[in-house]
Amino acid sequence: MKEEHHVASILDDHERECWGCGLRLLLATYSPVFKCGWCGAITSQNRKRKPDSACFSRWRCLRDRFLVIVALLFMSFVICAGVWVVYPTVFSIGYFCGIFHSTVTAILSFITISTFLLAAFRSAGSPVVITWGSYPIVGKNSLENYTFCTYCAKPKPPRAHHCRSCQMCVLDMDHHCPFIGNCVGAENHRYFIAFLLSVIVSCLYVVGMTSYSAYHIWPALELENVVSAGTDTMSAMRALKHILAVIASPVLLLSARGLLLIYLAFACLAVKIGLSALLWQQLYCIYEGKTYVSILSSQNSEHGEKGCQNILRFFGCPFWAFRLLLSSSNASKLQESSSKIL
Ligand SMILES: [Zn+2]
Ligand SMILES: [Zn+2]
Ligand SMILES: [Zn+2]
Repeated sequence: MKEEHHVASILDDHERECWGCGLRLLLATYSPVFKCGWCGAITSQNRKRKPDSACFSRWRCLRDRFLVIVALLFMSFVICAGVWVVYPTVFSIGYFCGIFHSTVTAILSFITISTFLLAAFRSAGSPVVITWGSYPIVGKNSLENYTFCTYCAKPKPPRAHHCRSCQMCVLDMDHHCPFIGNCVGAENHRYFIAFLLSVIVSCLYVVGMTSYSAYHIWPALELENVVSAGTDTMSAMRALKHILAVIASPVLLLSARGLLLIYLAFACLAVKIGLSALLWQQLYCIYEGKTYVSILSSQNSEHGEKGCQNILRFFGCPFWAFRLLLSSSNASKLQESSSKIL
């Protein structure tokens, strides 16, 4: 009787139910994580996560909305203020120069705003609805490497992650960006990269144009005189005094245009440096065939090989580009092997 009870308790310990197909599986040893031999779903017996409180979700939602509005306002401000401060200068140079500047500004503004809206308001990539739960309906290997999302109470595909801000599972989730109020995932990652590129190019353009305009409306500076003033201490002091006098002059500092020129140049330079670092990190992750979340969670095994083909695939480059890349990489490999033999 005692022996029977012992056998039953061992069976209970090692018997687990697969969430995917509902079959009860008898495991050889106790394991908190196991994979179903029928449907391929992975069941984890780890600690159940508590759902987020309403207060926490509300705070994240408000933070995202606030930052999206800040980002939109900042972009609108840079466009409007940039046009206002630079317009008189470029049109004073020549009509063609003014038209050219207006066209470039309109194109950059359109691309930046449209890619921002696409990245922010397009779904980041929700998993497809799949049947699960009971054996006759769930087919063999139909839930291969799926896990169960305890937040959504739904199956989670292998390359998906749950975002607590968006309150959904996101395919190929890279990260949740509060400035677009959305996750960066399979469906909007390209728009996000295009947005970063567009902002960086636009900021470079703004820095260039504001510097040029400041130089143009700052005739008193006479940089040539300052540079050719000499290298001795007295000349350097005179040059410094001259620069300080010009900076404090009403032409630049006391006019709204001068203040805006300085602000726009420095603000856009700072944004450009910050976003260039972010873009570099994003392109590196794509090259490595990973996402930022997968690097953080060390789930490298779920991604493929690293290489330029990942970047071409990401941007949807045509097939001939792949062939060109493969042929060039094969040629370099052949060259390497022949040099080793020699
Ligand atoms: Zn199963
Ligand atoms: Zn989820
Ligand atoms: Zn998210």
